[in-house]
Amino acid sequence: MTNQYQNETKNCQNCKNDFTIEPDDFSFYDKIKVPAPEICPQCRQQQRMQFRNFKTLYKRLSSKSGKSIVSMYSPDVAFPVYESNEWWSDDWEAMDYGMDVDFSRPFLEQVDELFKIAPHPAMLNIKSVNCEYSNMTLNAKNCYLVFGCVDDEDCDYGHIVWECRESIDNLYLFKCESCYECIDCLGSTKLSYSQECESCVDSIGLFDCKNCLNCIGCVGLVNKSYHIFNQPVTKEVYKEFLEKYPLTDKSNIDYILKEQEELRKKVPQRSFFGSHNTNVSGNHIYNGGNVFYSFDIKGGEDSKYCFTVRKAVDSYDVSFTGELSECYQVLTMLGSNRVIGSQTIVDSHDVSYSECCFNCSDIIGCYGLRKKSYCVLNKQYSKEEYEFLKNKIIESMNKSGDWGNFFPAWMSPFAYNESIANEYMPLSKDQALAQRFTWKDDIPSTKGQGTIVGENLPKSLDAYTDDLTKEILTCELCEKNYKLINREITFYKKNKLSLPHQCFNCRHAKRMNLRNVRDLRSGNCAKCNNEILTSYKPEDQNKYQIYCEKCYQQEVY
Ligand SMILES: [Zn+2]
Ligand SMILES: [Zn+2]
Ligand SMILES: [Zn+2]
Repeated sequence: MTNQYQNETKNCQNCKNDFTIEPDDFSFYDKIKVPAPEICPQCRQQQRMQFRNFKTLYKRLSSKSGKSIVSMYSPDVAFPVYESNEWWSDDWEAMDYGMDVDFSRPFLEQVDELFKIAPHPAMLNIKSVNCEYSNMTLNAKNCYLVFGCVDDEDCDYGHIVWECRESIDNLYLFKCESCYECIDCLGSTKLSYSQECESCVDSIGLFDCKNCLNCIGCVGLVNKSYHIFNQPVTKEVYKEFLEKYPLTDKSNIDYILKEQEELRKKVPQRSFFGSHNTNVSGNHIYNGGNVFYSFDIKGGEDSKYCFTVRKAVDSYDVSFTGELSECYQVLTMLGSNRVIGSQTIVDSHDVSYSECCFNCSDIIGCYGLRKKSYCVLNKQYSKEEYEFLKNKIIESMNKSGDWGNFFPAWMSPFAYNESIANEYMPLSKDQALAQRFTWKDDIPSTKGQGTIVGENLPKSLDAYTDDLTKEILTCELCEKNYKLINREITFYKKNKLSLPHQCFNCRHAKRMNLRNVRDLRSGNCAKCNNEILTSYKPEDQNKYQIYCEKCYQQEVY
């Protein structure tokens, strides 16, 4: 069947850049009955991310028990915050906060009122054990400061770490064990300081390597062992290298990574990372079919504008979600379908403009419901009453231009710099305020308490003792104080690694900086000159020889 639509170029109401709506997009919008968006995909992504706070954590009191708790919500938010177990208990009822719909006022204004009185859970940790300092965890055990932590055990300091064991300081790590300082790595064991690697073992400082064992500082190698800086070496030379450049000394890691970077400038680089795909565009897509303009995808089909998503089907504009179908403009979802403009919705269907609801169906404008159907603003209706109200709400939201958009930024309980928007799309305070986003100046941190600085940290493994947990370290970049925990000291000792000279936030920011931005730019293949779409910035396209997928395959395999 041919599509009745044609490409349409629109000017983003927010950033004033042009963006294109393609015929298939119109078909999707038709199918789920929303108008075509007036703001561009990047601004839509930024808007959703302002509602997710991973790691800006506060000590505060539970509004229910008065207990001292750790929460992603600062003590000055409008709504009550309950300690997570208290939130999940049966001795309070979200429906007690129900409101009537007032059709003389904008619907989202009323949704915002409900969201400002309904109790919120301090953190979002589901089916997890001993993960009090992690946030957004699912089926996790013993994980400390891991954010976006799914099916992990004994992991520390991470951001989007799924199905991993005993791994520390990673960003986008999948099915790995004993990995350290890795970015976008999969199925690897004992891999450190590496990026874009798959199934590598006992290796250091690799970039874009696959099935490699005992390699150091290599780029683009496949099925290799005992290589240093892409040159084959004997087992003995390899051993000597490790003795000459022990990783307990930070300057040796810097040397390896510097050499690796030089190598990267000489060998062809792929324009896209991912595998087992048919017909996709974006970056970091695995097992996708017809997934476009999407980033950090594990499984999924017929979807577009997906960011950190596993198994999305027939969905557009979704961020940080798993297992969903026919969804649009959603954030933090799991096992749900037909959801629009909502966040933190789990095992539910036919939901719109709601937050933090579990096992629900046919709800609109609700907060904190469990096992409920046919509710509007946390109030129960019959099926017929619900359908009538829902249609009237859609009509009114269509008139106000809200239907089909995510919650507007002013509804977010987080300032721009508390949310992950500032990790993926960093802004200065002035830039954020100029875009009418909020900014928080008093994010808690400790300074000036330090008992030791990075350069004075022990370099000899014998000195890696639990006594180090008593020290207060001073970050060499931001001067904020941080501490070490027992498990990481044991890990550094076992894997013969240097102790971190920077705080977790600075280590994370550095890793984020090494990733390409989640946007596509056009460029040309350095070999055949055909046009390519890549997430490499123009300056990086000049720095490296970026090849199209076809040329890369011909050159490397
Ligand atoms: Zn825009
Ligand atoms: Zn720092
Ligand atoms: Zn080419």
